[in-house]
Amino acid sequence: MQHVEPFSQPVYITQPLLPDIDKVMEKIGQIWKSKHLTNNGMMVCRLEKELGEYLKVKYLSLFSNGTMALQLACRILKLSGEVITTPFTFAATPHALVWNNIKPVFCDVENETLNIDPQGIERLITPKTTAILPVHVYGNPCAVEQIQQIADRYGLKVIYDAAHAFGVEVDGKPIGAFGDISMFSFHATKVYHTVEGGGLAFCSPILKEKADLLRNFGIKSEDSIVESGTNAKLNELQAAMGLLVLELVDEEIRNRKKVANQYRDALKDIPGLTFFKDISGVRHNYSYFVIRIDRKQFGRSRDEVCEELKRYNVFSRKYFYPLCSQFECYRDLPSAAEGSLPVAEKAAGEVLALPMHGRMSTDTVDRICRIIRQIQLTAGKKI
Ligand SMILES: *Cc1c(COP(=O)(O)O)cnc(C)c1O
Repeated sequence: MQHVEPFSQPVYITQPLLPDIDKVMEKIGQIWKSKHLTNNGMMVCRLEKELGEYLKVKYLSLFSNGTMALQLACRILKLSGEVITTPFTFAATPHALVWNNIKPVFCDVENETLNIDPQGIERLITPKTTAILPVHVYGNPCAVEQIQQIADRYGLKVIYDAAHAFGVEVDGKPIGAFGDISMFSFHATKVYHTVEGGGLAFCSPILKEKADLLRNFGIKSEDSIVESGTNAKLNELQAAMGLLVLELVDEEIRNRKKVANQYRDALKDIPGLTFFKDISGVRHNYSYFVIRIDRKQFGRSRDEVCEELKRYNVFSRKYFYPLCSQFECYRDLPSAAEGSLPVAEKAAGEVLALPMHGRMSTDTVDRICRIIRQIQLTAGKKI
């Protein structure tokens, strides 16, 4: 095999989807003319409607970011005590609970999807449990039916962290239709973005009404403030960006699918290297391309591969590592005890997200894959 040279320019984990700058300027011109920069302007109202249609959810509200949206979701549902969640997620998931004075209770994950394992939920339920907060990790849907059954049996609420799951559908059902509330993140690193931003999809109009109050200080009308709300509004500039990115997102997802399939084709049959396959009946969004590296079979650990890739100017990410249960602020929780989350612990040591976005060239993907093969071949040798 031919020796592969490092990239001359860094290849980053992702690149934000950027609309044509002239179109951005045109939208900004409209905002300037309106002199309405925030507080439910025309852009936010339009985006809320268009995104609701795209995500096929009846009740959607937009927020300054996904984390604030998740914090407010807990507040709207009046959650307290303990909430069962997954350690295999981004810091924002358990943090949103703690900001509501709720104790996160970590449940182990399923090996196939790395989503919360419904089999583990029931034995973590106590009289203090008020909800389940699962995450659709990498956009792969959770075991939504089983989770709902457990929630119904114990009278618990369900909030989905759907930050990765923009546009995902399960057997024709939109991902935002499950649970009481689903949170979407529109951060610049996600498939769809508004620079920073977030959304909540609700199962009832009453919840949306409450969220809309809480994101704007609880102001009901000029003379009446009815809730101790906060400031979590999306502004007009963000919404303008969101309207333009929405025009591009279907093509972006189609292109990402091609990139994912090229990765899968080029990385198949490498001993000790596995990846996620598409699930039948699921519309995927190809948010991430994540490989798992079994150190024994591959010959090198995930950490070594990550470091080696940097020498080739390729920047991958250990996503998710460390587990939330290993954070200084959470490791003393009883559910975080070492050894109690074996599937998540193993996965956190093996996963590596490779560069992914819809505008990657086939040459770039091909070269990254050849570099990975080369890293394996040179295992144990200095290159
Ligand atoms: C990105 C992300 C969030 C937080 O979203 P922000 O919009 O960045 O606040 C929460 N959970 C998960 C799983 C995420 O990936």
